[in-house]
Amino acid sequence: ASSGDGGAGGRRSRRVLMFPLPFQGHITPMLQLADVLRCHGGFDVTIFQAAVNDAEWARHPAAAAGYRFVTVGAGVAAALAETVPSKGTNSDFAGIILRMNELLRAPFEDSLREVLAEDAVGDDTPAPPCLVVDSTLRGMQEVASRLGVPTLSLRTGGAACLVAYMAVPELIDKGVLPPPSRDPSQLDMPVTELPPLRVRDMLFSATTTQATMVACFECIIESIRCSSGVIFNTFDDIESADLQKIAGGLSVAVYAIGPLHKISAGLESSLLTQDRSCLEWLDKQEAESVLYVSFGSLASMDADELLETAWGLANSPVPFLWVIRPNSVVQGSGSQQGQVSLPDGFEDATRGRGMVVSWAPQQDVLRHRAVGGFWTHNGWNSTLESICDGVPMMCRPQFADQMINARYVEEVWKVGFLLEGKLERGVIQAAATKLLCMEEGKEMRRRAKHFKDRAAVSTENGGSTKAAISMLVELIKSL
Ligand code: UDP
Repeated sequence: ASSGDGGAGGRRSRRVLMFPLPFQGHITPMLQLADVLRCHGGFDVTIFQAAVNDAEWARHPAAAAGYRFVTVGAGVAAALAETVPSKGTNSDFAGIILRMNELLRAPFEDSLREVLAEDAVGDDTPAPPCLVVDSTLRGMQEVASRLGVPTLSLRTGGAACLVAYMAVPELIDKGVLPPPSRDPSQLDMPVTELPPLRVRDMLFSATTTQATMVACFECIIESIRCSSGVIFNTFDDIESADLQKIAGGLSVAVYAIGPLHKISAGLESSLLTQDRSCLEWLDKQEAESVLYVSFGSLASMDADELLETAWGLANSPVPFLWVIRPNSVVQGSGSQQGQVSLPDGFEDATRGRGMVVSWAPQQDVLRHRAVGGFWTHNGWNSTLESICDGVPMMCRPQFADQMINARYVEEVWKVGFLLEGKLERGVIQAAATKLLCMEEGKEMRRRAKHFKDRAAVSTENGGSTKAAISMLVELIKSL
């Protein structure tokens, strides 16, 4: 807990309440933000956690770091668990967000009332709290507003992605979306309103209906519009034009305070146990020689793609560190395999040159001098972590904002390239070789290093991120 400068004379520090969406890619930046607000603003932070991932949260290092957690929705835990995606690739993520809002709204009202009542006890008058809420949790924001609690919205994706979501109603009116067919000639059409995006980059997920997608985007945009400000885990040098479009288009104060993982005090936020032995293995590899392969916490592959990936990596000349998350391989029946078996001969073919783990300390891996390329699904955290450590990417996006992020990597920042179409071993082998061993890959690495330097500058005194953090702290104190 903190003491000191959060409130006016004699008051306790202002309490900041936080509510992340309960998925790794949303929890991580929220906890990093908690760290930043505690260090830079002296705020006292309480984190609401939806009653899912209970086992993982229980041993979460953030609890040990002195953050207070309040579980929301224990009474609807079974229904919440049903919403959690079991098959990443085909998940209706927009539908899940809407359902979570429905389920959590009433329990959150109870929890918030309890927390506010605690503050009213005691001799010193506490400064009233504010709530930083994930931008997808519009229902929680409405509850907070009704109870007189000011809110800030944390957008865990990039600015380009939100600009694209803001344009969707217009694109539907114009008949650009949905495409009349899934014919490649239709999918490859440029969306002229949002260069360099193509129609295929705007399809969100094969299992999400257009109505659900639109409702989800409305929920995100309303949540931002109704808040006192929106916080982005990005930085000016890579997204200034899109950040300005958001500030103007939604008439909201925008705080670009990323890359959060470079400014938070290194609070460990992983729900899965990280296998740190891979760092020792990396120590033995040559500089910028290793391809790191990981598709985040939700994306999945089928058994055939697993086979092609294994042989693509085995046949390439490149050393690799490959994360195969438990339950991330989908069988023909749609069920998921807990224990993944790699093809016969794979181990012999890659001995000494490859390592497979079930979950890695990704930020440490990307920072390691031996890593020269990242084969990623382009979740926003992974994309930003890669850019900020100067690591170029081969991109295999699957759903949600991943296609938009990948397209920016290829066309705007030019720090990687897309791997499209059927996943075949020959294509993987050629892509890995291009990224790690050829001049094209080296050029992408040079550009990525430029952004790494820019990210570092942004967090120093006088940098855009440093300035945005100060302004955000002042805003929170003034609410
Ligand atoms: N991550 C990790 N170990 C792994 C793979 C991923 O710690 O083996 C972390 C990664 O550093 C990132 C997060 O998990 O912060 C994944 O977030 P992202 O937005 O990239 O993808 P999502 O999981 O939401 O699809």
